[in-house]
This record gives sequence, C-alpha cells and structure tokens, in this order.
Amino acid sequence: MDRYDIVIVGGGIVGCAIARQLARYDLAIAVVEAANDIACGSTKANGGLVHAGYDPAPGTCKARVNARGCELYGRWSEELGFAFRRCGSMVLAFSDGDRAQLERLRVQGERNGVQGLELIGPDVIREHEPRASAEATSALWCPSTGYVDPFEVAIAAAENAAANGVAFMREAPVRAIERTGDGGFRIVTDRAAMEGRVLINAAGNECADISRMAGGETMEMAWRQGNIVVLDHEARPLMPLYPTPTPVSKGVIVTGTVHGNTVITATAHERAAGDTETYADDIEALLAGARKLVPDLDCRRVVRAFAGGRAVIRGLNDFMIRRSSCRPGLIQAAGIQSPGVASAPAIAERVEELVREEGLALAPRADWDPHRCAPTDFDTASLEQQQALIELDPAWGRIVCRCETVPEAEIVEAIRRDPGAVSVEGVKRRCRAGMGRCQSGFCQSKVVRILARELECDPWDVPLEDAGSPIVYGPVKEGR
Ligand SMILES: Cc1cc2nc3c(=O)[nH]c(=O)nc-3n(C[C@H](O)[C@H](O)[C@H](O)COP(=O)(O)OP(=O)(O)OC[C@H]3O[C@@H](n4cnc5c(N)ncnc54)[C@H](O)[C@@H]3O)c2cc1C
Repeated sequence: MDRYDIVIVGGGIVGCAIARQLARYDLAIAVVEAANDIACGSTKANGGLVHAGYDPAPGTCKARVNARGCELYGRWSEELGFAFRRCGSMVLAFSDGDRAQLERLRVQGERNGVQGLELIGPDVIREHEPRASAEATSALWCPSTGYVDPFEVAIAAAENAAANGVAFMREAPVRAIERTGDGGFRIVTDRAAMEGRVLINAAGNECADISRMAGGETMEMAWRQGNIVVLDHEARPLMPLYPTPTPVSKGVIVTGTVHGNTVITATAHERAAGDTETYADDIEALLAGARKLVPDLDCRRVVRAFAGGRAVIRGLNDFMIRRSSCRPGLIQAAGIQSPGVASAPAIAERVEELVREEGLALAPRADWDPHRCAPTDFDTASLEQQQALIELDPAWGRIVCRCETVPEAEIVEAIRRDPGAVSVEGVKRRCRAGMGRCQSGFCQSKVVRILARELECDPWDVPLEDAGSPIVYGPVKEGR
C-alpha cells in the first residue's frame, strides 16, 4: 500500500493550490480526486473574479484569506504562467442609500487590509469604464480586483505540483477513511487504498462527507446555486462592475475575462445538492442586472449559460480552515463557498501553517521549482512564432477549433501534459477548443478523434466530461 505524509482529498482549485504550496517541502503528497479530471467541481463553474476582499465581514476566516489571496495572485500568475488581469473594479451606487453602503464597504475593506479603496464620482467612473451606466452617481473604486480563468489556475497549480513530485490519483472517489495503528489515516478509494499521516479535506461540496468519514466535525451543507451567462468576445474587455451588495449577495456582476469574453455572474438560490440546471428566471435576472450596470450590453451575444453550487456550511456561512478539533491529523479546508477562487493561494498558505502545527517536519526541497512552463497559446502568438511552430510541426497549422483558433498540436499538448486531459471538456478547459461562439459544433468530433488517437482507445470510449458520458455510441457504418 502506498504511504504518504499528506493526502489531499479534492482536486479543485483549493486542493491543487494546497498541493502546489506543500510541494516545496520534502514530503510525499497525494491528491485524490473523484472525477476523471481536476477542476471539475465548483472550480469549473464560477465567475473567475479575484475579488479584492472588502466584502467579507472583518474577523472572519474569509476576510483573512480573501485580501491575501488577491495579493498573491500576481506572483502566482508569474510563476505558474496563467493569465491574470489586475484591472481594478467599481461597485456602482445609484442612490444616497447605495452611497452609504459604499462608505461602509470602504471602511470594511480597509479593516480587511485592502488598499487603494476610494469613493469616486460620475466623471471618474466614466474614465475607468466608459460603458458603465450614466445613472451611477458614485462608485467604490478598488484597484486590486482582477480576474483569471479559474480552471487554468487549478490546472497550472496541479501541473507545478506534479512536476515537483505530487501524485495525482483521478477517478478515485474516497469511499471510507479508517484510523491506522499509529493514528494516521487509511483512505479507501475506488482505485486503491493508501495511508496518510495528515489528511486535508478540500472536497468542496462533499466536504461534510469526508469530515464524517475521517471522524471530524459534523457539517450540514447547503448548495447555494448560481447561474452564469457568457457573452462572445468584446473588442475591449469590460472592467468588473458590481452593484451595491445586499446583506446576502454581491449581486449581479458584469466582467471581462482573460480571453476577452463578457461574463455576467451570478445568481444565488439554495437548491437541491448537485443541481447544475440553468433557470429562465435566473437568466432573466442576470440580464436585467447586467443591463442596469452596462446599458449598451448586447445580450444577443450570449454563447453559453451554466450553473454551479457554492459549498455553504449551514450556520457558519464562513470558510472552515483549521485543524480539526475532533480528529488529530485532519485539516479542514471546508465550506469554501465564494470567494474560493480569489482566496485559493492564501488558503494554501494558511494550510501550510496548519500542517506545520501538526508537527510534520517541513524541510525545503533543494530541487523545488516554483515555475511552470505554460503551454503554447497559438492564438495569441505572433505571426513569426506561429510560422516557426508550423515549420516545426505541421499539426500547429491544422486549426481544429475555428472560433478560438486552436490547432491540433495544442490539443495534443493538452492531452500529454501531466495531469493531462482525458475528456472533451478537459481539452476545452486546457486550450479552449470548443469554448467559442459555436460551442464545439464544428470541432467536437475532431477533438474526439484526437483524444482517441492519443489515449489509444476507441472514439466511443472518449467521454464528454466524467466517466460514463460518451458522445459516440459506435460506428454507423462498419469499417468507416
Ligand atoms: C456560480 C458561482 C460563482 C462563483 N464565482 C466566484 C468568483 O467569481 N470568484 C471567487 O473567488 N469564487 C467564486 N465562486 C466560488 C468558487 O467557485 C469556489 O469557492 C471554489 O471553486 C471552491 O473550490 P474547491 O476546490 O473548494 O471546490 P471544488 O472545485 O468543488 O473541488 C472539490 C473537489 O473535490 C472532489 N471530491 C468531492 N468528494 C470527493 C471524494 N469523496 N473523493 C475524492 N474527491 C472528492 C470533487 O470531485 C471536486 O473536484 C463561485 C461559485 C459559484 C457556484
């Protein structure tokens, strides 16, 4: 049986960030993920905003990690080679009541350590974002807000962790956790069992199950569902614009993305666990909320709507990042609802401290490399670079996804990296094939063939997403 110093359950942005943070030490670490790929939970279904940290109530766990996470993103993006745009944001006010709320947010943000917050008037609003509503009478300007592609962050962290020796076990749902004779954990998955001295619970919406299996805190979870809408590329990405928040929600936010799309995010309704349906009422609310912030938004340019669930621990409504008070050796990175993306690097830093408190010797590895060699992005390469790539290998010239200009060689690279894509959606998350305005109408069958060739399987064994989601059921005409 494999033995590890640390086993992390959950390969979302939080589990991958923790793995990357701990990989700098001379430790045997494994990440165990139920799905066939990483970043398949809430990490694949959110707005990608790196909120600055003025929103959480001071003194909460969220407040501690949000502002710090936002701060760390600059360094993480440089080291890991993922796209991060720190463009600043505005919370728009439309009344005197709203303005009073902005003042409250400014004070709260300063207490949380957010720098540069400023109340601004209509002229400065238009300077920052000419498309912001002319009805806005004032705004809270926050220079540190940014956005990322959340699955790119998780994948980049995972790749860097893997390159530094972390083992990733996918398609390995944890079914049972037992106590070993020396007080450690025996983790039983569908693929294998393993032992760990320290167990980190980063299982997202299933964190209560892992805590229960491990003998940790009892948690009751709520699935705070959110719908999101994606619009086609804009000539210039929009600055994130927030409405004045309500006591329970940040409200409908409009933002650009690192790829030039516009995203309208997100509704918040408690729904049945696992519900990822989109709802007409929610979409209407999103479009109406977005038009209030950006009146000239062309909502006919919607290319996709999707939904995800925030992992809310009932009664706590905060992150739970701490050593378990019930089970020595168990570290909770649980209840990571929003802003888990913004906070992930700081959650990883905090978990490192908790691991140290568990008494594990954290000896730095001499060969630790904080840098990841990012995959080649053909679309944004210069003409000279594109030409050189095609001369190297003609597969760089065979464009598979026309909307996002993704050539065959980029898809092959996405499959061959570690941990690489094993599904059509896994390819899409890594190199954007199928992400554009036709939503894979033209390229999906080609991506299936490339996956089948690279993974040495039949096309009908290539899943759309998780295991058991085939696209092709068999040949229509034998031998073709
Ligand atoms: C609609 C919406 C919008 C959001 N917008 C933002 C935003 O703009 N900015 C922001 O900062 N945050 C945002 N969030 C929150 C953010 O998405 C989450 O905080 C973050 O993705 C949580 O990451 P995670 O790794 O904890 O969870 P997940 O990504 O869900 O990962 C948990 C992983 O654990 C695995 N797992 C579960 N059970 C088991 C098991 N038994 N065995 C093995 N593996 C298991 C799952 O398969 C999953 O991959 C939003 C969330 C939603 C729903």
